Amino acid sequence: MAILGLSLLGYEAPLNDTNIKKVIVYVEIDRCAADAIATTTGVKLGRRSLKFKDYGLMAATFVNLPDGRAFRVAVRDDCREKAVKYAPSVLDRHERETEAYQQMPLSELFTVTVVRVEIPQEDLPGVSCGKIICEQCGTEVRHKRTVEKNGRLLCRVCAGSAYFKTIKPVENLDSLGLI
Ligand SMILES: [Zn+2]
Repeated sequence: MAILGLSLLGYEAPLNDTNIKKVIVYVEIDRCAADAIATTTGVKLGRRSLKFKDYGLMAATFVNLPDGRAFRVAVRDDCREKAVKYAPSVLDRHERETEAYQQMPLSELFTVTVVRVEIPQEDLPGVSCGKIICEQCGTEVRHKRTVEKNGRLLCRVCAGSAYFKTIKPVENLDSLGLI
């Protein structure tokens, strides 16, 4: 999937030092495919070149930043069933699929779509859009990730849209002898 995505953009995997700055990959699943795509291409969350969209879909979009070309590569749902046809003698399902996937034509493994991704300026690698101070807790919020609520710019925690619920602060951190 990763090799195909990069190949469609005209790049080899893994991306070299020059090309790594030109590509952004959106992965739509957080299972092992996400790690495999990161490892194979070289894109990284910390470089802002790997974006995670929690869609639960075995798909990823490969975007070429210089000209905006983008291809979404999705794994076909029926590729597992077809694996039997390509490696019928292999009994173990996992081994059979691994063997078959190496023989199957790309069109039986993937659906590829030409797409356009509008990437906001604040999502681009290497771009700093400055910091905004949360008007409630005073924390610096980067990349325009503030939320406007009742006329105030807040971090997502103060805006009430955090993924966690605060129980209590950990006291005496320095005296716990942790590190
Ligand atoms: Zn805040």
